[in-house]
Amino acid sequence: MAYTDDTLLDIYDRTSGYCHICGRKLAFTNYAKPGKRGAWEVEHSVARANGGTERLNNLYPACIPCNREKRDGSTRAARSRNGRTRAPLSREKRATAKTRNALAGGAAGAVIGGRFFGPAGALIGGLIGAAVGKSAKVE
Ligand SMILES: [Zn+2]
Repeated sequence: MAYTDDTLLDIYDRTSGYCHICGRKLAFTNYAKPGKRGAWEVEHSVARANGGTERLNNLYPACIPCNREKRDGSTRAARSRNGRTRAPLSREKRATAKTRNALAGGAAGAVIGGRFFGPAGALIGGLIGAAVGKSAKVE
């Protein structure tokens, strides 16, 4: 199956350019270039042999060793061999998660700051909480 650059970008962006199985960083320009740094392939989450489709929701970027090793095995099993339960987030979902963390952190910080230091404490606590929430690791 040959993919257009547009499709490849959509697939690559699904995980912000990380292998959906082991989480290794992939290099977009090294698509289907075994041996190159960050080389990757399109991986069918449900293998074609098992009735998997060519639709975007079944396609993920994977480093070549992961793709070859998985073959027609399940995505869940392949990820769990790498200690993972889900694919890395897309850029969009990553941004949403960061915002959510910042809001949650800000709210928690405001409550704590307000309780101990009054309104000024709430403001400062909110800012600190938001910063902490925003910098929380999003995977
Ligand atoms: Zn991998």
